[in-house]
Amino acid sequence: MPTAAPTAAADPLDAVVVGAGFAGLYQLHRLRGQGLRVRVFDAAEDVGGTWYWNRYPGCRCDVESVDYSYSFSPELDQEWTWTERYAAQPEILAYLRHVADRFDLRRDITFSTSVTAASFAEDRWTVTTDGGETVSARFLIMATGCLSVLKPPEVDGLDRFAGPVHHTGRWPHEGVDVSGRRVAVIGTGSSGVQSIPLLAADAARLTVFQRTPSYVLPAHNRPLTSEEIADRKANYPEHRAAARTSGFGIPRAPATGERALEVSPAQRRARYQGAYDEGVLIALGGTFADLRLDQAANDTVAEFIRGKIRDRVADPETAEALSPRGYPFGTKRHALDTGYFETYNSEHVELVDLRQTPLVEVTGTGVRTTERLYEVDVLVLATGFDAMTGALLAPDIRGRDGRTLREAWADGPRTHLGLAVAGFPNLFVITGPGSPSVLSNMVVSIEQHADWIADAIAELDRRGLPTIEATPEAEAEWVAHVAELADHTLLPKADSWYIGANVPGKPRVFMAYLGGVGPYRQRCDAEAEAGYPGFRLG
Ligand code: FAD
Ligand code: NAP
Repeated sequence: MPTAAPTAAADPLDAVVVGAGFAGLYQLHRLRGQGLRVRVFDAAEDVGGTWYWNRYPGCRCDVESVDYSYSFSPELDQEWTWTERYAAQPEILAYLRHVADRFDLRRDITFSTSVTAASFAEDRWTVTTDGGETVSARFLIMATGCLSVLKPPEVDGLDRFAGPVHHTGRWPHEGVDVSGRRVAVIGTGSSGVQSIPLLAADAARLTVFQRTPSYVLPAHNRPLTSEEIADRKANYPEHRAAARTSGFGIPRAPATGERALEVSPAQRRARYQGAYDEGVLIALGGTFADLRLDQAANDTVAEFIRGKIRDRVADPETAEALSPRGYPFGTKRHALDTGYFETYNSEHVELVDLRQTPLVEVTGTGVRTTERLYEVDVLVLATGFDAMTGALLAPDIRGRDGRTLREAWADGPRTHLGLAVAGFPNLFVITGPGSPSVLSNMVVSIEQHADWIADAIAELDRRGLPTIEATPEAEAEWVAHVAELADHTLLPKADSWYIGANVPGKPRVFMAYLGGVGPYRQRCDAEAEAGYPGFRLG
């Protein structure tokens, strides 16, 4: 992918944006719209972020495409037509490429270039790349993604394996031909759940190494009808507006105040069944008000899902091994599947329960557990990401007095509103820790942040002020508020990546804001309307 020369290379930059996924693209468009000179860097060879890197078979969104798309351009809404309820990765990437072309964004993006360091002095950020370039800008905006830094499995011998090893988050562009080959998949989160049925369809033998079973619900994916498309295009503005004030970024009536144990088992089951049949990520969790709050209530929905697994998996032992236990439903982002459980009914697919027989090593020819060696030709790692902080802590970011972000976040991430960090003036983070972020339809959250940041910069410029910086007091208050909300729920109980539990040594801090997308937006808007009381404007 050729990289166009930046438009404003010779002029001093207003902003550097790191990342050219959903967030970086829209941030560039917004800032350019108010006359700022912006450069975007991305390690990838093209736009797309998540949808550039994750090309594994079966990769698709878990929020319906008519919701999981930009809302900023009514024209774009009318021009673009989604083909499926849940678009697959190539279609989402095509959409983002279209956006880049439609809004002429590429000329300010430098691809195949990582930002390795950034430091703040004299009201400007100096940003260094692995291409040896150094640029200076007033603002540094990290649109680096919550799920963009890979987490490998903690197992010896990966480098000894003679065959190909592919992480789902760095899938080769030319695809991986597994036909007639023995394939191993390590990991059964969303990426594993989506890829396993398609890998099984082609492979001679598929062995799935599972440590923790996931709560998995059917996507009921299908092509969209022309009536559905026409209807949505006619109502996009109302629909988008409702998404912005909703709890999750998907327009939906909020749960009634009803509690799960207040109704009869038959009523409960009927409610769960209705939601299960919908194929909407948040439907089941929204059936009762207390599913995320009360363990006994949660147990009822967890058991409902285990019953569905028993219905779908022929072998009772395999069904039990695939059944999530020991952590509440809704405390990790659950997966939406197409044929996941049925895959285990095929003769050539085997599930290895790593809780019974843990991983020991990868050898030249396969994967060894405490029980035996499984010989395979291709190894697939669906082992997830160093989520939320991985990409922010990878570059050497230094704020006031040379203090590094790694030092500031040694005990876990600290932000004001998930947008800014005390001691790091003019640094903004899109969908950062402390915002709804990964607990939402992320495109809605991304647009909200990019708009808020652009408005804050416009306000500084109107007032002729060079810097904006979160105060330590506002940051401390927000960190406490985020933790307090989480502690009222069951979410911190799970060893999820929301709390950093998937990365050995990572501080155990619940990283997302649980107050909901709509209320969070109100809080951010109130901050701006009150003249940014949680920030020092310099
Ligand atoms: P990303 O898309 O991750 O883009 C960040 C970019 O920054 C990357 O291209 C990366 O190369 C670049 N970058 C990072 N660090 C540097 C650096 N130092 N220098 C240069 N470049 C850098 N969310 C939903 O709401 N619904 C979904 O259905 C959904 N499905 C998902 C499916 C998968 C497989 C995954 C992994 C995530 C999914 N997500 C989903 C979350 C998804 O990440 C967000 O929805 C969204 O795409 C994030 O956009 P972004 O621009 O913030 O980050
Ligand atoms: P993930 O949810 O973190 O799952 C990683 C899997 O790998 C888990 O089963 C984990 O087991 C396993 N694993 C990790 N290290 C291991 C080790 N050393 N040994 C054995 N098993 C190991 O990652 P993901 O599936 O890539 O999904 C991450 C997030 O991306 C999702 O939660 C979602 O937000 C997003 N996503 C969305 C979609 C979608 O449907 N649109 C698709 C993919 C991803 P443990 O649980 O025991 O650690």
